[in-house]
Amino acid sequence: MAGDNTPLFQRVALLGIGLIGSSLALVIRRDNLAGHVAVYTRSAETLERAEELNLGDSYHASPAGAAADADLVIFCAPLGANAALAEAVGPVLAAGACVSDVGSCKRAVIDDIKPHLPDGVHLVPAHPVAGTEHSGPDAGFAELFEGRWCILTPEPGTDRGAVDRVADFWRRTGSDVEIMDADHHDQVLAITSHLPHLIAYTIVDTATELERDLQKEVVKFSAGGFRDFTRIAASDPTMWRDVFLNNREAVLDILGRFTEDLTTLRRAIRRGDGEALQEAFTRTRAIRRGVIDAKQA
Ligand code: NAP
Repeated sequence: MAGDNTPLFQRVALLGIGLIGSSLALVIRRDNLAGHVAVYTRSAETLERAEELNLGDSYHASPAGAAADADLVIFCAPLGANAALAEAVGPVLAAGACVSDVGSCKRAVIDDIKPHLPDGVHLVPAHPVAGTEHSGPDAGFAELFEGRWCILTPEPGTDRGAVDRVADFWRRTGSDVEIMDADHHDQVLAITSHLPHLIAYTIVDTATELERDLQKEVVKFSAGGFRDFTRIAASDPTMWRDVFLNNREAVLDILGRFTEDLTTLRRAIRRGDGEALQEAFTRTRAIRRGVIDAKQA
């Protein structure tokens, strides 16, 4: 493992410079994780803003321009952009380069990126389980990954040295690294992240359907619980559209179980079964304590 101040990569290309890409750019610079940061983003406006914020060392209007000569390329755009970006950068990647990403689903990332990589280029998918409801290059901050998990999902047989280098990189951002099978990742995140977002979007949408007067009351008394859902439901629509399109099976499976459990609670309320409600709420209280103990609160 490299010493704490030694760059781990010579040139890191960031494909996308929103919340996650700009946070990476800031921590790379602060902690000297790479000799050079090459930034690509889709629009001229965002590229210009990234330059104003001094997020990189070079700025590129094409993904291949950023990825050329890079020894680490990180895909930081929404999941739906990955296949086209991989097709664009594949031809310029040199043998020995590492490719990683930050996507919230992992099987789809492997399916979209891997076919476009030349032999000798190592794909080490990553998911930093860290984020906010804000988007774009102004939203980033260097501390985003501190104390958060970063889950790596390399395919069996991936070059061990490449996995170690990418794991070291994420550790140096402040993350705790866990290695997991991609499908298992997608099932775990379906319940811990994707379903909660779907519920938040639904509740806020239901409230907006209510008639006008009641809506005002909803905002006024939002501290009663609704407020936390509005924060989650303010998350980027494109990113979350892509999450549900790319983790379809796992989300549908968990949604089926959730619907059954909701029906059970609904029945308990209808029957006035206080004992069943009390039992369910006591079980879930223990989960919150577990989250606090694991320092994820
Ligand atoms: P973001 O702030 O919305 O930034 C997205 C970036 O990708 C921008 O630079 C944008 O470019 C670019 N982009 C958008 N559509 C593109 C396209 N079709 N082709 C090429 N580039 C495109 O997004 P983010 O929150 O950083 O999320 C990026 C990735 O991180 C997603 O895959 C998401 O699953 C993952 N992630 C997000 C969070 C979170 O909480 N936000 C947490 C963990 C992982 P322009 O502005 O130039 O259009």
